[in-house]
Amino acid sequence: MKYDIAIIGGGIIGSAIAYFLARTGQAGSVAVIEPDPTYRLAATPHGAGGIRQLFSLPENIWMSSYSVDFYANFAQVMAIDGDLAEIGFRQQGYLFVVSEKGAKQLEANAQLQARQGVRLELLDKAALGVQFPSLGREDVALGCYSPDDGWIDPTSALQGFRRKAKSLGVTYIESRVTALETNNQRIKVAQLEQGDSIQADIFVNAAGAWAAEVATMVGMPLPVKPYCRVQHYWLCQAEIEPLPLVKDESGLFFRPEGPGFVGGRPSWEIEPGFTFMAKDDRINRYFDGYFERVVWPLLVQRVPKFDAVRHERSWAGHYAQNMLDGNMILGPWLDEVENFYVACGFSGHGIMHAPAVGLALSELILNGHFVTMDLARMSYQRVLDEKPYKEKGII
Ligand SMILES: Cc1cc2nc3c(=O)[nH]c(=O)nc-3n(C[C@H](O)[C@H](O)[C@H](O)COP(=O)(O)OP(=O)(O)OC[C@H]3O[C@@H](n4cnc5c(N)ncnc54)[C@H](O)[C@@H]3O)c2cc1C
Repeated sequence: MKYDIAIIGGGIIGSAIAYFLARTGQAGSVAVIEPDPTYRLAATPHGAGGIRQLFSLPENIWMSSYSVDFYANFAQVMAIDGDLAEIGFRQQGYLFVVSEKGAKQLEANAQLQARQGVRLELLDKAALGVQFPSLGREDVALGCYSPDDGWIDPTSALQGFRRKAKSLGVTYIESRVTALETNNQRIKVAQLEQGDSIQADIFVNAAGAWAAEVATMVGMPLPVKPYCRVQHYWLCQAEIEPLPLVKDESGLFFRPEGPGFVGGRPSWEIEPGFTFMAKDDRINRYFDGYFERVVWPLLVQRVPKFDAVRHERSWAGHYAQNMLDGNMILGPWLDEVENFYVACGFSGHGIMHAPAVGLALSELILNGHFVTMDLARMSYQRVLDEKPYKEKGII
């Protein structure tokens, strides 16, 4: 089998890239190699679906702003024969709250975001109390509220990209890439699990938490590691006003979901690795009672009415964490393997950035340069230079 472009990994990133390539009509034949059409272990279905423009790096703001518009029109744009691609985008806002310590940075970020056209409001303690009376404000000095942000259902978005890409002629191959064969600084062949292989002119590594494993097949060192994230769903009987997605300096976040709430806190104290798939007793013991022991006290501090909740369930997924700076790596590995592109290291932002990444990478591949937004600073060069490009404030 021979394709013009082969994408390794068909999660939301691989599928968005496939869709944006195919919709140009200029990409030739496109294949996505994805071993699991149920996405049982992929990050995408485990994500909270949060979409926000509250970043400090202009690139992250541009990408999110593009995605907010794209997701707002997703149902119609991705419809097939009039069958709408609903993703349940609730633009109920994002709210970052910080103590005195984080106030200056939050303000500086808000100024930058406002200059980029993001609609937002800075709320002092009193204003927070009026707008969101359920919030615990004892340790809070300032909040930043962005009303156009919100959340989507990540599985519906992934399936929307996948179905639309297929309708535009993209082929999904149900298999896993096990080896990449190079010749003259170019990948010629991808070996697949079932013993067959495919050829392509361009290969894209969109393998999420497995991206470093795939990059190793051509000797490319990627600082991307799987990082376990546990999420929880709980019910609360007390009356609480409609809240946006709330995030604070402890890393805690939560948002409404149906009759309850979904949220959690990154477990940075656990070392990287595919921990939730590992039968590791130490890790299992650590996560036993994690909600009650670690997350719940933070929740009660942020919303005192959460002192009476019913914890319904917890689940885990893996971030593809860029250990250099927590931001994505996008683009080719020009000096070494010229037809190998990476789109990985999305850490906690792959769902919100998928549309922008799909657009930007399709432009880069087809035109040789970015057109809509200049994402050159997100390239692999900063890894080679060991120059982190980090977010400031809440990530
Ligand atoms: C608990 C949690 C909460 C999150 N919350 C948010 C949020 O609120 N907002 C947000 O924007 N992001 C969030 N994220 C991050 C987001 O889920 C990810 O950044 C995004 O889903 C990454 O998409 P992906 O396509 O790169 O990876 P994945 O969805 O993991 O897809 C990668 C695919 O590659 C395939 N693959 C692996 N190896 C190979 C191989 N050798 N050959 C072929 N295919 C292969 C896998 O089968 C997999 O399907 C969250 C993540 C977690 C875990």
